[in-house]
Amino acid sequence: MIKFDRVVKQFGDLTVLNQLSFDVDPGERVTLIGPSGSGKTTILRLLMTLEHVTPQRDPKSDGGVIYVEGKPFSHMPKGDKLVPAKERYLRQVRKKVGMVFQQFNLFPNMKVLRNVTEGPVHALGLSRDEAAEKAKSLLELVGLSDKLDNYPSQLSGGQQQRVAIARALAMSPDILLLDEVTSALDPELVADVLAVLRDIANSTSITMLLVTHEMSFARDVSNRVMMFDRGVIVEEGGPDQMFSDPQEARTQDFLKAVL
Ligand code: ATP
Repeated sequence: MIKFDRVVKQFGDLTVLNQLSFDVDPGERVTLIGPSGSGKTTILRLLMTLEHVTPQRDPKSDGGVIYVEGKPFSHMPKGDKLVPAKERYLRQVRKKVGMVFQQFNLFPNMKVLRNVTEGPVHALGLSRDEAAEKAKSLLELVGLSDKLDNYPSQLSGGQQQRVAIARALAMSPDILLLDEVTSALDPELVADVLAVLRDIANSTSITMLLVTHEMSFARDVSNRVMMFDRGVIVEEGGPDQMFSDPQEARTQDFLKAVL
């Protein structure tokens, strides 16, 4: 479903991802853990095409190829070569991926329903009625049927984050990326958001990549945990093994600090 093949990502002199290779199978739910700055968010941003590994800007730095569903995601095929992807190609491949951010990123000037219908209407070509029908069922799934006509500013942080989850799912992505989706929430609002995500994980076969500091949530929903440090995977395994019996000193130290 997702393949990183020797991906190198640099910001100036800083190598954030260092010849990183890994595979994620369809339906897998993988949690990325690791210290601040280890490259976790960069991986998600690459999959959203918010960052690129194509050496467009600095030919000496970035490299490697990212594949989604067997197709090059970071590059596009031209004859038998891979060349830097053009915006039109990126727009097509991006549809496979939905992302929920720490800071919700809702459109503040649009009501809840419109926040969820906007993407499907403009990017998928759904009619307003079709998009509204789908949005209403997703907003019901996240427990917000009574908030369709509210503006984001009239909702709690937890409710805004649930709208953001519905908005990501409205695009029918094959892959859902979750980047510390509870970090900006007051503690009492975290449980509702995690419950919605647990439901989605248990009731769909969507492939998930998540970055989270909620280790009990990670343990519940993921099939695999990957520990990153300085842009490489230092250890990976099932959640029981990773959280109860980590083998590498760096994983042990990290978990000691966060658990
Ligand atoms: P955290 O847990 O703190 O969110 P992370 O593991 O998700 O960290 P990234 O956000 O991927 O780490 O960042 C990796 C490194 O790359 C950091 O040192 C960060 O400052 C740097 N970085 C990320 N984006 C950019 C950018 N657009 N320009 C310059 N440096 C960047």
